Amino acid sequence: MSPPPHPETWLKTTASGLYCVPGDFYIDPVRAVPRAVITHGHADHARPGNSHVLATAETIAIMRTRMGAERAGGTLQALPYGEPLRINDVTITLYPAGHVLGAAQILMEHAGSRAIVSGDYKRQPDPTCTPFEPVTCDVFVTEATFGLPVFRHPPATSEIAKLLASLALFPERSHVVGAYALGKCQRVIATLRACGYDRPIYLHGAHMAVCDTYQALGINLGELRPATAAAKAELKGAIVLAPPSAIADKWARRLEDPMVAMASGWMRIRQRAKAGGIELPLIISDHADWDDLLTTIRDTQAPEIWVTHGAEDALIHAATQMQIRARALSLVGYGEEE
Ligand SMILES: [Zn+2]
Ligand SMILES: [Zn+2]
Repeated sequence: MSPPPHPETWLKTTASGLYCVPGDFYIDPVRAVPRAVITHGHADHARPGNSHVLATAETIAIMRTRMGAERAGGTLQALPYGEPLRINDVTITLYPAGHVLGAAQILMEHAGSRAIVSGDYKRQPDPTCTPFEPVTCDVFVTEATFGLPVFRHPPATSEIAKLLASLALFPERSHVVGAYALGKCQRVIATLRACGYDRPIYLHGAHMAVCDTYQALGINLGELRPATAAAKAELKGAIVLAPPSAIADKWARRLEDPMVAMASGWMRIRQRAKAGGIELPLIISDHADWDDLLTTIRDTQAPEIWVTHGAEDALIHAATQMQIRARALSLVGYGEEE
């Protein structure tokens, strides 16, 4: 019997993204393809126009919400976590990535060889999605968004405690929190609820639809109200969530004396918060921090990793020191969520 083929012989980087040869499908393709397997609903991973899409039911629901049913794909096939599916000459199984609702790592098994494309992932607790599940493999394809030792994310609950402390200190000010529309927004809300905050939370229009989808999928976010429909007085001392692009512009300035906060892993960098006019930086990230990247690589027991995007160099160096073969895929088109 011949030894299993190395994943590099059957999982290829192409201009459209990662291509699984024996399965004849692309993972998170950056341009429309006949068959796509999608890790999660962020705009840099889930793009419109593929003829056939395979993903978790949650990711499909999120894609429909964000793109409209037609643009989400010609045919949409849902696959639950942990259920193997044969596609041509490969078996794929989706495992939770802990990144946003529905996010999946994709395990591909071909002729005794196992590769996992993790998509984006994190290890911190998140009340809105299933925790990351480590799975052993021969090649682990990882992101490296926060692939530098400086990036260490504190527990989200301690960052939310800062927000609540500020609210107690400045009860007259609207607290505007910049957060991505998919994942971060709902995690901030759910963490606030877990910390006992039960007042209505106000949302920028861009956040409403995804929150509705989460609630429809069984994630309880409590009472949410559109910020635009609220009177100025009603927003005094309220928490208002908005996309990062909206918090610095006119939209936020029409609120009375807003306290501008931002929930992002990048808030670890003080200058970045200052330059963005962020008074209250909250270090809350849906990506693994440095320690969790290394822990995860160890957990997979993979003798080799491929790094898709982010700060590849430091992670490759660290992996090499752990006797793990590592290389950068330098895929283009991935990075900041929206
Ligand atoms: Zn993502
Ligand atoms: Zn991403």
